[in-house]
Amino acid sequence: MPKHAPEARRHWHAMSPEDALGQLETTREGLGEQEARARLDRHGPNRLQQAKGRPAWRRLLDQFNNILMLILLVAAAASLGLGHTLDAVAIVGVVLIIALIGFIQEGKAEQALDSIRDMLSPRAQVVRDGKRRELPAEQLVPGDIVLMESGDRVPADLRLLEARRLRDEEAALTGESTPVDKEVAAVDEATDLAERACMAYAGTLVVQGNARGLVVETGDHTEIGRISEMLRGVEKLRTPLLQQLDRAGRVLALFIMGAAVLTAAFGVLVHDESPSDMFMAAVGLAVAAIPEGMPAIVTIGLALGVQAMARQHAIIRRLPAVETLGSISTIFSDKTGTLTRNEMTARAIWLPEGEVRIDGTGFEPQGDFHEVRYGKPLDLDDHHALRHFLKVGVLCNNAELARDEGRWRIHGDPTEGALVVAAAKAGLEAGELRGDHDRHDAIPFESERQYMATLHAMDGEPYLLVKGAPDRLLEMCHRVRTESGEAKLDRDDWESRLHTLSERGLRVLALAEKRADGVTDLTDAHAEEGLVLLGLVGLQDPPRDEAIAAVKDCLAAGIRPVMVTGDHAVTARAIAEQLGFAHTERALSGHEIEAMTDAELEAIILDVDVYARASPEHKLRLVTAMQARGGVCAMTGDGVNDGPALKRADVGVAMGIQGTEAAKEAAEMVLADDNFATIVRAIREGRKVYDNIRKTITFLLPTNGAQGLAILLAVLAGSLLPVTPLQALWVNMVVAVTLGLALAFESGEHDLMRRRPRDPAAPLLDLFLLWRVVFVSVLLLLGVFGVFSWIVNGQGASIELARSGAVNMLVTGCAAYLINSRYLTRRSLSLEGLFGSRPVWIAIALVMALQLAWTYLPVMQLVFGSAALGLGHWLAILAVSVAIFLVVELEKWVLRRRHGGHGASEGTGEGRREHAEAR
Ligand code: ADP
Ligand code: MG
Repeated sequence: MPKHAPEARRHWHAMSPEDALGQLETTREGLGEQEARARLDRHGPNRLQQAKGRPAWRRLLDQFNNILMLILLVAAAASLGLGHTLDAVAIVGVVLIIALIGFIQEGKAEQALDSIRDMLSPRAQVVRDGKRRELPAEQLVPGDIVLMESGDRVPADLRLLEARRLRDEEAALTGESTPVDKEVAAVDEATDLAERACMAYAGTLVVQGNARGLVVETGDHTEIGRISEMLRGVEKLRTPLLQQLDRAGRVLALFIMGAAVLTAAFGVLVHDESPSDMFMAAVGLAVAAIPEGMPAIVTIGLALGVQAMARQHAIIRRLPAVETLGSISTIFSDKTGTLTRNEMTARAIWLPEGEVRIDGTGFEPQGDFHEVRYGKPLDLDDHHALRHFLKVGVLCNNAELARDEGRWRIHGDPTEGALVVAAAKAGLEAGELRGDHDRHDAIPFESERQYMATLHAMDGEPYLLVKGAPDRLLEMCHRVRTESGEAKLDRDDWESRLHTLSERGLRVLALAEKRADGVTDLTDAHAEEGLVLLGLVGLQDPPRDEAIAAVKDCLAAGIRPVMVTGDHAVTARAIAEQLGFAHTERALSGHEIEAMTDAELEAIILDVDVYARASPEHKLRLVTAMQARGGVCAMTGDGVNDGPALKRADVGVAMGIQGTEAAKEAAEMVLADDNFATIVRAIREGRKVYDNIRKTITFLLPTNGAQGLAILLAVLAGSLLPVTPLQALWVNMVVAVTLGLALAFESGEHDLMRRRPRDPAAPLLDLFLLWRVVFVSVLLLLGVFGVFSWIVNGQGASIELARSGAVNMLVTGCAAYLINSRYLTRRSLSLEGLFGSRPVWIAIALVMALQLAWTYLPVMQLVFGSAALGLGHWLAILAVSVAIFLVVELEKWVLRRRHGGHGASEGTGEGRREHAEAR
């Protein structure tokens, strides 16, 4: 097929389905695999041209776009003007190194996010060779047949072949957010895009119903591809934390520059120093004190967190979620498939004449039927009622059982799959049954409706079949099918059967039917009255083992797991109990939530962990109520209607496998494995990232503090600078950043999941942190001045040597403090504390090698004014460094004792629940 130039676009909307199929040389059975592959080669993948990111040179140039770099460039120019050529060259050299480090780090971070964008690519249900299968939407080609249901993003431009109650929200394309009804009939050629009812365009959202469509255009040839190059995906590296740091950094920088100017003026006016010397001192002070390396390190920390989460199947769509995850105090979770395995197996069928048990494991269609009363295998040929029940279960059903690569698999909803498997165990084959009983219409299952209905010809008679939640169906039935015909339905009897099944933790469905003479189109009203009950079926869906462990972790970490399910309250409580939830004695139903005011809901929300027969709007109210009580909430969801609750939650979590595109787009995080345990792992990771950022900041700031103070005090005292501006630049940008980066790789502390969640309102820079920064700044300052004056005064050696000693003292002292900083308040003086982190030691080794080069290489000596130290100097420096390390450990010990084992750093870990109750 030729690539279509715009003028050659065909008017698919004006063609009949058959014509469109003919044009694309395909059939309702779909393309063959081979033909599809050939077309993929010809048309290219079905994706929009990637919006180009910043080009590399722009990224490099952006590195110079900050205050420090500007100061430095001005300083370099000034140095040149003052005749200090060497200084100018050195400053420019360091500036280039900084820019390069920033450039590489940023590239790494962006790469990390890009790889995640790929993991989020949508999938599509396709029919090929007459068989239904799931493919990445990128592999669609013109001529493919695609199946869609509510919640799907339309994956390509489609000519509809079948549409059942299909409503499509086309805001992405037309800007109109009211969903439009779709149908199969062709429209006039001149019809506007927005009114072509027989087309479903790529990027629009199916909000109701289901459909089968023929792919007519893919990739950039779709309507959306032609009008926009916009790409949905992960957003840029910008989070509240980074913004907060940025703002704090800017204020700090202005403050420091003010101080630098005043200090220089003081030097000129009071001590009669030369203005050019004082200018360089002011620059030195600014360079020394401004913590410019920090944002880069924090960014890297966040990106590492995103990557680690992705490795554990939690895909972050919005970066701020990385931070928020660390303070989650409540997880509202779906039950089916998230807390449970979603490997449904029909275990029991309750017919009017008694209970039948079913053997077998998994989806394999092998297993016997036993009648509980007699306890012996059933002869199915004799059991007409059971066969009829199973048959109805298969017809009012969209799932398929297939065997690929030797494994039995379900395509479609596992709840429905279980019924297909049960029928197969009785020798009833779904494809055959469905072929013999044409389906004329259907109302699809939706959580709000709680049932599904289909219209068939059964043995020549029109029949309406319904399956759904038993409590809902019992309202709709007045009679029950018996061997001899029909009888009046004994409601109490069936309620107690339902209760028995639910108590075993089984998910229960009811089946019902009625004759439907003269009906061609199904309506809700018609489906909901005068039904005849056939029986109940109980599906087993055991909790995931990981979920049981994860629930335990949550409870230890001060996080409440809360179950929100569409299932029956008794079933939900039974499963919650198996999972080890804290409060399972009470479950609240959707009806009960509806009957409550917001205030009433807020009053009980901390006491109930199980919500049953709940629908998306209830989820929204639950999150809102919990937030009103001070909770920070994660909320899972998979359906179209879960959008508002996901958006409202602090971290909306969508299911990657079961979830609709609509849910994924509303969420901050997507679970690639739909697993509850993954949320808990992500929370752990989030706590770790935040911890490491705090550690990095506590480490970096004293380095700046000590240097800044050293220069400030020297100028004020009218004495020699212990560290030159250029040397400060070296320490600040090359050494401190290398060391600080090591902390981003710290693995979480062992008690990470035994603390209460962090209070999101607590400031990043709290009193403890400020104290630590001042304390260590002073320690380092003492070391630096001590070594400096010892060499210059005590030994009468040159000022260059003394400065060399001072700089090496500063760097070695920082290296020692790096080990302190691995734990904010816990003891680092242990085997694990000292040697537990490889990145820390790599960073220290690297920095020491750099320092040796800096001290002894002639070219470095020329540029930085350093001089070769003797062994005695090194021993002294080492001794002071060890002393600094020990003093900080002592300080930690005092803090730990004062806070009764809970360091001030964990002061941020006050649980939100207490927090809430204290209000
Ligand atoms: P959840 O996914 O939270 O477990 P659902 O809203 O999917 O809950 O299901 C609610 C109830 O609706 C179930 O307990 C079951 O009785 C019924 N149900 C679930 N899936 C189907 C389906 N595909 N067809 C008919 N009824 C269903
Ligand atoms: Mg469900």
